Amino acid sequence: MRWDERQVAMLREMEIRLWFPQPDPVPASVSTPLPLAERGVGAAGASHDTVVVGRPPEQAASSLDWPALREAVAACTACKLCEGRRQTVFGVGNERAHWMIVGEAPGEQEDRQGEPFVGKSGQLLDNMLRAIGLTRAAAEPARQVYIANTIKCRPPANRNPEPEELARCEPFLVRQVQLVQPKIIVAMGRFAVHSLLRSTEPIGRLRGRVHAYQGVPLIVTYHPAYLLRNPQDKAKAWDDLCLALETAGAQSG
Ligand code: URA
Repeated sequence: MRWDERQVAMLREMEIRLWFPQPDPVPASVSTPLPLAERGVGAAGASHDTVVVGRPPEQAASSLDWPALREAVAACTACKLCEGRRQTVFGVGNERAHWMIVGEAPGEQEDRQGEPFVGKSGQLLDNMLRAIGLTRAAAEPARQVYIANTIKCRPPANRNPEPEELARCEPFLVRQVQLVQPKIIVAMGRFAVHSLLRSTEPIGRLRGRVHAYQGVPLIVTYHPAYLLRNPQDKAKAWDDLCLALETAGAQSG
């Protein structure tokens, strides 16, 4: 890959130096996706089912189109996180994006603005994306990503999401993936990764290979907030992005 000035500037912001030794390519192993049926998710369709508020959204979400899904998320009271939210944080980006970025849960800024990754970790995410030629701003599906969180409501005081909250919210993300049909998913952080891969292994053991979610290649990487606290791991995140680029390229033929 050749670097233009802008990319080099972005890499500098990520504190990635181009002379870093690159590890030998890691052979991509593909882990088996959990069958949709086991996740309680039906086939894609486009009717306007009604979500029964206060009940788990599994069945209803699986057939919603974009506007109905957005409404269902906004009205959701399936777990107690609805009590403390200012608003739900649905997702942003190109609805046919080739790249889907999955984070964890909204923080304070996201809860205020209704958009994922708008705080400090969002700035780092934007820089990481720019370094590989991607953006959240309007662009064609190959360049504009779709960003969603595993959890659509802010946990109080940014505490970790609870297993029940993750489980209740998952059908919404499943449906977002079905609608976007990305070529690649980048899962950022422990909660996103563990929830999508049904794994409890540390990120450090899951990264460096290609997994799958609903049949879509999935790359595991560190959460930008973690990288802000642990800048020494930015080089590993860069390797993860390079693996994602390579995998997405292979997908496009
Ligand atoms: N962290 C996330 O995982 N998602 C956000 O939207 C903000 C911070």
